[in-house]
Amino acid sequence: MHAEPAGRPQRPATALLVVDMQPDFMPGGALAVAEGDRLVAPIGRLMTSGAYDLCVATQDWHPPGHVSFASSHAGRRPLESTQLHGHPQTLWPDHCVQGTPGAELHGDLPWSVVAAIIRKGADPAIDSYSGFRNNWSPDGDRPPTGLAGYLRERGVEEVHVCGLARDFCCLWTAGDAAEAGFRVRFLWDLTRPVDPAGDAQVRERLARHGVGIVAGEGVPPGLGTARRGGAPWP
Ligand SMILES: [Zn+2]
Repeated sequence: MHAEPAGRPQRPATALLVVDMQPDFMPGGALAVAEGDRLVAPIGRLMTSGAYDLCVATQDWHPPGHVSFASSHAGRRPLESTQLHGHPQTLWPDHCVQGTPGAELHGDLPWSVVAAIIRKGADPAIDSYSGFRNNWSPDGDRPPTGLAGYLRERGVEEVHVCGLARDFCCLWTAGDAAEAGFRVRFLWDLTRPVDPAGDAQVRERLARHGVGIVAGEGVPPGLGTARRGGAPWP
């Protein structure tokens, strides 16, 4: 046992979660999200702003032939829906294949300030939208990535979510963060959707789960004031 140094303030930490900023999700990429490249500069400024105690990134990281790829399902095409392990699953074009240039972290972001990178989607049989938990496994559970424990051990109580894509990996990451007990703020203007028509539903789902939505591209005002908790997720 040891005492904390005298006079050192103990305060809850706030983490910035940078979701899937990878070339395959940028315009021209295998699973392009419109205007995804517009986020690079402002997210980079936020990462280096000093406003956050901790910065963590996620990286979509699939083996060839991953179950989420339409090409892995005979006769199916990208963006069709199917059932996987008893739950709806969108089928995607092949994307973020491990070791390919499209799966790298975007070259124009300041990754040196990131404390940890959570790779997700590496299990060939399970998709993974959220940085906290995989989608459903064949056993019916959603296996954790360990991110919640990592953040807790670093004293984090509040997380802010930005990156790609708004309606999938950012939404699921924010929802799981709320479910795990963190205060969550969703940096709306630092995300872009696969399908803009779903924006209203994304807002409704975030609100239902107690996630605060923040507008603007700069450092969010009032760090540490997001609402806590919400309904079970998903
Ligand atoms: Zn993926």
